[in-house]
Amino acid sequence: MIDNNRTNWFCYSWFFRWKKGIVVLAGNLNWHYFNIKDEAEKIFQKPVHIINDANAAALAEYWDRIYDKKESLLLYTLGTGIGGGIVLDGKLWTGANGYAGEFGHGGYFQDRFPCTCGLPHCIEPVSSATGLTRLINQVADEKSESLLATLKNELQRDLRLVDIKPLFDKNDEITIVTITEGLIPLAYHIVTMLYILNPEVIILAGGVTNLGVKLKQILENLVKARIGDFMLKTFKIEISNLQDKAGMYGTGYYALSKMNEVK
Ligand SMILES: [Zn+2]
Repeated sequence: MIDNNRTNWFCYSWFFRWKKGIVVLAGNLNWHYFNIKDEAEKIFQKPVHIINDANAAALAEYWDRIYDKKESLLLYTLGTGIGGGIVLDGKLWTGANGYAGEFGHGGYFQDRFPCTCGLPHCIEPVSSATGLTRLINQVADEKSESLLATLKNELQRDLRLVDIKPLFDKNDEITIVTITEGLIPLAYHIVTMLYILNPEVIILAGGVTNLGVKLKQILENLVKARIGDFMLKTFKIEISNLQDKAGMYGTGYYALSKMNEVK
C-alpha cells in the first residue's frame, strides 16, 4: 500500500504463509496456495512484503495505543467472517507458519451452523455479521408476532444488521436475546484466549460493532459470567476507533518496521 520507490506493501487475507507470501486458502476468492508475493513482484518489479489484513489491523490498534503503553492485545474483526490479530510484548505474533490469529475457526464453540472452512463448530458461522444476520432472519421467520417479523414484512427482503439497530437500541427483547445468543460462541472464544494469553485489552472491529456500545456491554457481560475473579479485575474490551482505516494504518506500521529492519 505504500510505494517508497524500493518496496510495495500489500495487505491480504486468510490463512497465508506470510514469510513466503503464499495465500493457502482464500475461499471467497477461490485462491488455493496462491503466491501473491511472486505475482505482485512480477507486476511492480520491486520487493513486496505481505501482511494479513486482520494482522495489519491489530498492529494499527497497537500503534493507536502506543502512548497508553499497551503492549499486548487481541483484535477480533467481526465482519462477513471472523479474523483476528495478536500483539504480544509490542510484536505481532503470527505463529510458526503464519496461521496465528485465525480466531474464526476451529474448536467447539457452537453446534447451530457448520462453517465454510469445513469444520462444524467454529465461531464464524454464528458470531460474524453473516451469522448474526442469519440468526435474526431465522427468528423473524419463526416468530411471526415479533417486531423482527414485522420489520421483515415491511422491508420485503431479508433483514440486515443495520435494519435491526433501532430495535436493538430500543431493547426489543427478542432482538436482544437473538443477538446475545449469537455472541455466546464469541464470548467462549474470548474467555479461552484470555486464559491463554492474558492480553491487556480485547479490541472489536468490523461491521458487527456498528451495533455500538450496547453490543460491547452484552459481550462484556457474557465474558464476565465465564471468568474467575483474578481475570475479572483486569479484563477490558474496547471497540476499534480506527475501523476501516485500521488495515491501512497497520500496513503502514508494518512497512515502517520492515524498512527499519533493512537499515
Ligand atoms: Zn471455520
